[in-house]
Amino acid sequence: MNWCERCERNEAKVHLKMEATSMHLCTNCYNQLMAEELEVDLDQLLESFAMKDGQGVSRTFYVERRVNPIGIYLEAVENIEFGYKFAVHGELKSNQQELLSKLMEKVRKGIREQQVETGVFPNGQEYNTVINDQLKGLIEYDASSEGTPLVINTGACHHPNFVED
Ligand SMILES: [Zn+2]
Repeated sequence: MNWCERCERNEAKVHLKMEATSMHLCTNCYNQLMAEELEVDLDQLLESFAMKDGQGVSRTFYVERRVNPIGIYLEAVENIEFGYKFAVHGELKSNQQELLSKLMEKVRKGIREQQVETGVFPNGQEYNTVINDQLKGLIEYDASSEGTPLVINTGACHHPNFVED
């Protein structure tokens, strides 16, 4: 893990290059520097929240903020591997609490609909079907299956790794 060069306490997640300086920073330090530079106030925001999905399963999200010269980026990242991720963008001077509300609304809508259904064949083998012929997810490279795209379906309830064939 790379440590933040400014506070030396948190994981460095941002590589900042400005004029002659180049620094690896954690999100907090990065935001503080950018906020000073861009004259933006950093509102106190929730660090995490939990919400129930369409199946009544409670899901926990961490809120990540990034202040960029082109605006403020807020992301909600679920606390599990291959979990949900949602993001919203706002202008630099936008109300950050409102932006957070927008993000939470997006999460609420996004996790409400179930996209993959699990069924069982008469021989006991399980299968996945895509509801409404729609699947939203991340396409990632899976090193263990040659050349097969791995679709990480963020909407699956019991089978987070839905492999498309
Ligand atoms: Zn730091």
